[in-house]
Amino acid sequence: MHQETITELAAGLRRGDFTSTELTRRYLARIERLEPRLNSYISVDAEGALAAADRADARLRRGEAGPLTGIPIAHKDIFCTQGLRTSCGSRMLDGFIAPYDATVVERLAGAGTPVLGKTNMDEFAMGSSNETSFYGPVKNPWDERRVPGGSSGGSAAAVAAGLCAAATGTDTGGSIRQPASFCGVTGIKPTYGRVSRYGMIAYGSSLDQGGVIARTAQDCALILQAMAGFDPKDSTSVERPVPDYPAGLDTDLAGLRIGVPEEWLGAGLDPGVEAVVTAALSRFESLGARVERIRLPHSPLCIAGYYVVAMSEASSNLARYDGVRFGHRCEDPADLPDLYRRSRAEGFGAEVKRRIMIGTYALSAGYYDAYYLKAQKLRRLIAEDFRAAFERVDVILGPVAPTPAFPLGAKTDDPVQMYLSDIYTLSLNLAGLPGLSVPAGFSAGLPVGLQLIGNYWEEGRLLAIAHQWQRATDWHRAVPPKG
Ligand code: GLN
Repeated sequence: MHQETITELAAGLRRGDFTSTELTRRYLARIERLEPRLNSYISVDAEGALAAADRADARLRRGEAGPLTGIPIAHKDIFCTQGLRTSCGSRMLDGFIAPYDATVVERLAGAGTPVLGKTNMDEFAMGSSNETSFYGPVKNPWDERRVPGGSSGGSAAAVAAGLCAAATGTDTGGSIRQPASFCGVTGIKPTYGRVSRYGMIAYGSSLDQGGVIARTAQDCALILQAMAGFDPKDSTSVERPVPDYPAGLDTDLAGLRIGVPEEWLGAGLDPGVEAVVTAALSRFESLGARVERIRLPHSPLCIAGYYVVAMSEASSNLARYDGVRFGHRCEDPADLPDLYRRSRAEGFGAEVKRRIMIGTYALSAGYYDAYYLKAQKLRRLIAEDFRAAFERVDVILGPVAPTPAFPLGAKTDDPVQMYLSDIYTLSLNLAGLPGLSVPAGFSAGLPVGLQLIGNYWEEGRLLAIAHQWQRATDWHRAVPPKG
C-alpha cells in the first residue's frame, strides 16, 4: 500500500478497500520502523494525523470526498503549522510553535489530507545535501551512506521510502528538483508567484517557491491543484486563474519541440547522468517530439549570481532571529548586544552564519553595486536567454544535477563544491520559471532525474509531458531495495 500512487490510494479509499485511518496507521507504523535509519522527519504527529483521518473517513462515508480526501501527506518543516513545531531545520526555531498555518498547509488541510508530520531539511533551506540540518542528516533510501539531496531531502526520502503519499517542498535554487532526482521521485517547482509564500519561512524571498514531491506527475498535479492560486496574504502571489492540472495531463507529445542547452552537456557532467539524458532524448523522439540544441549563454554564471542574491536576501530575512521576537534566546544576557550576539551564535549553524556574513558584506555600502546590483543585472540576462530559447522550443530538457546522490560527508568541508552541484537548477529560479524533475534511469544503481523547464505559468504542460513520459516508462515504479 505504501508504494501506491495517490490516484491508486484514492480509488482504494472510495471502494472501501481500506479507510483513511487504516492507511494513516500503516504509514505511521512504517515511519516508526524506518525512521531510526532514515531521519526524514523532524516531527511526527500521530495524534493530529489520526484525527484528520477520522474526519476524512466521515467525509468519505458521506460521499463528499474530493480527490485528496484521506491521503496522508507530510510538510517540509519550513511551512508554519499551528500547534505543531516548525523548526526550519534550525536550533534557532527548535521550540517554535507557529500561531497560524501557512496558506499551503491550510489549503491542503481543506482538501482533507491528514498530516503525518514535518520533514527534515537543510537549516533554513540552505544546502544541497540535507547535511546542515540541526536534526542531523537524512539518509538516501536507495543507499543509506549517501545524501538524499537538499534542501527538501526529508520530503524526497520520505516519499521514496513510502513514509507518506506526497510531501510539500520549497525550491530556492533546486531544493525540490535535486532531492527528487537523488531519491527517484517526481518533484515540481512552479512559476514564482503560483503558490503562496504566506507562512513559508523566508530564505531568498525573490527566489523561494513552494511545490510538491510525489511518486508521479499525476500525483503532483493533484497536490499542486490544491496548493496553487492567488493569496491576498502574499503580495508576490499572482492573481491568475489556476488551470485544471489533472484534467490537462492527456497531451500528445507529437510535434513537441524540446530544446537541449549545449552548455549543460559534456564537461562537468557525470557520464552516467549524461547517458540517462541522451537515452531520454531518443525516447522522446520516438514518442514524436523534435529535439534541437539551444544555447543559454549566461547559464555558466548562474552560480555566482544566485549565491550573491540568495545570501543577500538571507542576511536580511534572518535578521529577525534576534533572541527577542522569535526562537532561541541565550541564558542570562548581560545586555542587549550580548543577547543578540549569543542568541544568534548559539541558534544558527555554520552554513547559515557563513551566508549571513557573505550576504551582509555583499549588501554593504560600497559593495552593493559591485555585487548585488551586478547579480540583479545578470538575472535579467539569464531571463533573456530563456525568453529567446522559448521562441524556438516549447520546453527545455536537461540534467537536474551533475551527479547522482553523493556520499554523506563528501562535500561538507568544501562549500564551493556543494554550491557547484546546483549548476543546472539555479538559473530558472533566477528567472522565476517552473521546473520539474522526473525519474529517467539509473547510474551505478542510483536514481537519476531528468529536468523539464517550461515557460512562465506552464506547469500544466510540464506535468502533462512528465505524465506521458511515465506512461511510456517504468522508472517511477522502481522502489528502494530495503524496507
Ligand atoms: N542548494 C541551494 C542553496 O543552498 C538551493 C537551496 C534551495 O533551493 N532551498 O541555496
